Amino acid sequence: MSSRCRVCDGTVHEFFDFGRQPLSDAFVPPDADLDQEFFFRLATGVCETCGMVQLMEEVPRERMFHEEYPYHSSGSAFMRTHFEELARQLLKTELTGDDPFVVELGCNDGIMLKVIAEAGVRHLGVEPSGGVADLAATKGIKVRKSFFEEATAAEIHAEEGHADVIYAANTLCHIPYIGSILSGVTSLLAPTGVFVFEDPYLGDILERTSFDQIYDEHFFFFSARSVQAMAARHGLELVDVERLGVHGGEVRYTLAHAGQRTPTVEVAALLAEERERKIADLATLRSFGARVLAIRDDLTALLRRLRDEGKRVVGYGATAKSATVTNLCGIGPDLVSFVCDTTPAKQGRLTPGSHLPVRESAEFANPYPDYALLFAWNHAEEIMAKEKEFTESGGRWILYVPEVRIV
Ligand SMILES: [Zn+2]
Repeated sequence: MSSRCRVCDGTVHEFFDFGRQPLSDAFVPPDADLDQEFFFRLATGVCETCGMVQLMEEVPRERMFHEEYPYHSSGSAFMRTHFEELARQLLKTELTGDDPFVVELGCNDGIMLKVIAEAGVRHLGVEPSGGVADLAATKGIKVRKSFFEEATAAEIHAEEGHADVIYAANTLCHIPYIGSILSGVTSLLAPTGVFVFEDPYLGDILERTSFDQIYDEHFFFFSARSVQAMAARHGLELVDVERLGVHGGEVRYTLAHAGQRTPTVEVAALLAEERERKIADLATLRSFGARVLAIRDDLTALLRRLRDEGKRVVGYGATAKSATVTNLCGIGPDLVSFVCDTTPAKQGRLTPGSHLPVRESAEFANPYPDYALLFAWNHAEEIMAKEKEFTESGGRWILYVPEVRIV
């Protein structure tokens, strides 16, 4: 199967098919008509021209980012620190001029902009999901409830002038119409400004076989090579990269207007590493697919064995990522009794497609299960420290990235 690249119109060759998948945040009310549940074919491909890894099929965006969008950035103490540190760094290095202006695309509940606002710096968050946008506004952050594209950029420019920093975390990779975003960025960005964005890194996904980073909301899987090629199409240049440990491995990319800044040595180093690892080669990507199938078979076999031995297994964290795992592996309530999660909007509902009941966190200890399947593995350290009592009382964690194991 092939399709056209969303960035450069080159030929995209499919390398893995996850099959029929639901929307990762479409938690099902218990009384819902299950026949009405929306499914699509989740499959990944790579562009032979620019090396961009992307989904083969697009889900209409209004189905994904809406009033009830349940993900809150501030939910994790670790992530709060991550964004606050970035905000302080930007204040120190990029926002020292006269009356600087910061725009954040997909500002979520305002975790980063709060620090900018408190420093008295002019800012604007652009956020299409109404619920989290309202939450940001209550923190004293100026928010515009909309998607960001060329026309939006023109309006913001007319009202506020050029932006010295445009920032986006876990947003850009969500957006199939990325060309319009970059055109908007190019026109809104001050001549000496920077566009900084961070998203899951293809190199980490391949290295860790973290296939659950692949779900409806993640349309693109960036690498330095594909970002450099994409930037060049819009008169922008990749001038810095920084590997981040968050969300199972991300890269923070910095773009500037072409010729304005000298790229750092880290850019050349990451590009060289990617060439060496051949991360955009079909053969490399197909062998990733083979490892995903091995994890699926191992995890399914383990859960069936535990069920047959009468052990109780509970899921930990009804994450967006868990939709890919449960639906790819066919994990239903017969294998995992329920999933506990701290998000009230998910509690009392069923997980999308796999229909595992979601219960509040307190249920985890009531009583502790024999095994906990850790869907929120990117927060493993934070969670395992918090749930020390579980392991002390004999409970065990099941992890499945980069391979299935019990700890
Ligand atoms: Zn392409």
